[in-house]
This record gives sequence, C-alpha cells and structure tokens, in this order.
Amino acid sequence: MKKTSIYGLTIEELTDFLVSNGQKKFRAVQVWEWLYQKRINHFSDMKNVNKECVQLLEENFTINSLNVQIKQVSQDGTVKFLLQLPDGNLIETVLMRQKYGLSVCVTTQVGCNIGCSFCASGILKKSRDLEAGEIVEQIMHVQKHLDEIGQDERVSHVVVMGIGEPFDNFTNLVSFLRIINHAKGLAIGARHITVSTSGIVPKIYEFADLDVQINLAISLHAPNNELRSQIMKINRAFPIEKLMSAVKYYLEKTNRRVTFEYILLQDVNDHVEEAQQLANLLKDIRHLSYVNLIPYNPVNEHIHYKRSTKESILAFYDTLKKNNINCVIRQEHGTDIDAACGQLRSKQLKQAR
Ligand code: SAH
Ligand code: SF4
Repeated sequence: MKKTSIYGLTIEELTDFLVSNGQKKFRAVQVWEWLYQKRINHFSDMKNVNKECVQLLEENFTINSLNVQIKQVSQDGTVKFLLQLPDGNLIETVLMRQKYGLSVCVTTQVGCNIGCSFCASGILKKSRDLEAGEIVEQIMHVQKHLDEIGQDERVSHVVVMGIGEPFDNFTNLVSFLRIINHAKGLAIGARHITVSTSGIVPKIYEFADLDVQINLAISLHAPNNELRSQIMKINRAFPIEKLMSAVKYYLEKTNRRVTFEYILLQDVNDHVEEAQQLANLLKDIRHLSYVNLIPYNPVNEHIHYKRSTKESILAFYDTLKKNNINCVIRQEHGTDIDAACGQLRSKQLKQAR
C-alpha cells in the first residue's frame, strides 16, 4: 500500500487513526507538536512518544515526501523552491518577503485543466491533484528553510496562487486549509490566507458555506463576457453574471472583502474602456472589494501576449481610482529569478526533454 504524508491528516483524522489502532487520544496532540512546533524530520525524533506509536506511524505514513531540487534566492529576499513529488513530478513554491510578513505561495495541482490562454500552467494539462499533505509540506519546507537561517522567522501568510486551480481540488484544499489554520498546527490565521480561483462558481458557494474567514481572490482579467471567454474559456461555463452572484453570496456570508485579479495584456484588455467597464461592474461592491492590477509576465514562447506599457497601466489605474475603486498595481517579486508562476518548472521540463 502506498504511504501518504502525515501532514495530510487533520487533528481529528489523526486522533481517529491512533485511537482505532489502540493508542491514547492525547498522542495526536503530542505528534502534532513534534510535527508543527518542533518540526522534526523523522518519526523516531519524537522523544516522549512510545515506540509502538512511532512504529505505527512509520508503517503508515511518510514525513518528508518532497525533495528540494532547486532553491533560488532573489536579491529582494524571494526564495523559489522547485520540489519533486514521490512520483517524480515537479512543483513550485515561493516565499515572498512582504511589508506585513512572510508569505508563501503554494501549488495545488500538477498542471492545470482550466487552460487560460495567458498562463504557462494551463499549457501543460493537469496530470494529477496534489494531496493535502503535499500542499502542507510545501509550507513545512519553507518554514524549515527559515529555521535553518536561524532568525526565528515564521511563515505568517499563505496564498493559494501557484500552479493549479484550487477549487478543482476542493476536498484536499479544505483539509490543507484546516490543518495550517489549526492552533496546534501552523496556526496561520484565516485572515492571513487567500485562495485564488479562476471562477468555478458552485465551489465559490461551497467555500462561502465553510464559514471560515479565509480571503477569496477572483481571477477576473476581463470586464465583459466576450473578452473574458476569449482569454479564459472557463467563462463559457461560468459567465460574469453568475460569477458576480456567487461573489456577492460570499461577501454576505463572510463579511470579508474580495480581491479581483486583473492581468494587463497589451492591447487585449488594457484600454480605458475596459477599465471603465470594470469600474461599472464593481460599482455596487466597491467598498467590499479590491482590484489587483498585475503586469503580465511573458513566460512562454507559445503565448504571444505582451505586458502592457507603463502608460496604459497607469491610465487603467487612474480610471479605476476616479471611479472610487480600491486598487493597487501589484509589486513584483524575484524578477531576477524565475519567479513568475510556472516558470521554473516549465524551464526544468524543457531541459529534461
Ligand atoms: N488557478 C488559480 C490560482 C493560480 S493562478 C487562478 O487562476 O486564480 C494565480 C494567478 O496568477 C492568477 O490570477 C493568474 O491569472 C495569474 N497568472 C497566471 N499566469 C500569469 C502570468 N504569466 N503573468 C502574471 N500573472 C499570471
Ligand atoms: Fe489554471 Fe489559474 Fe493558470 Fe488559469 S490562470 S490555467 S486557472 S493556473
């Protein structure tokens, strides 16, 4: 039987497993302390845990299933990890130093099936979902890297914005969120976690119904159906009206603000006309939303979009501001390394071919 990562179990699941195998209930909390506070690398390092329990865990779970292949450190402190999964697949995780803390961007799938026309991840079809433990372990790797540097720094924020569509791997995503948010786990506050989706509408409702305070980001990228369907084929299944109704439901349920991501593609979606349409679209929820304007990262020779000019980016921004829309132009991290989404992984795959 294939062993799974211990990091994929919620504390309730670990408790059930241990109790049904004759262990005492309190062991689960002990094991979690070793995993998440002391951050051990071997089950046998758990000094106050009885031998039978250690053996039981060794027989059933892995503790270090990801292998660091490459670690690139940028001058601005961004660190990009290329990690190998047990089946040989490669994924990326990025650590970013922000003014407000240390933020990690995690991957949720190997490839992506949504196939947005501007995205390197979408070119490579999804080969599989990541297990919850494989997503948690990405953060553990980053935290252990910080432990090694020895400045007592903690991962404080998590963004689910790496390769993959998180809402297409919903069950594992939810386990992952519960594990990292738990006080005895990594204790990352719900308000410090953001999940980004291309807009799988039924899952936005399910996410809102979880009754957690986790932030939601919507990859909008176009203010009307014609243009959005052209660059994101998911819009044909879930058009903007349905997406906005789901977002409004999320806002009512959670009282959180929502972020709209908007990549600026030269001469495609970056005219003042589209900025005005976007402002009109968000008029009713202006106090409950932010727009993140993202300068496009040209990542692949098969994708012919260009980054908008500085002038168009500023004109777009000004139009939103004039309409009292909260918006920022996203600051870029790690421009001297392969920091754009999917870039390091696709480069490795190309070299391997
Ligand atoms: N699948 C989810 C989350 C991963 S993509 C989603 O689409 O929301 C994370 C963000 O990176 C999305 O907003 C996506 O549109 C953006 N992105 C993808 N390729 C990019 C590129 N080449 N340059 C800039 N942003 C990109
Ligand atoms: Fe998938 Fe997001 Fe890339 Fe679209 S932008 S192909 S949903 S990873």
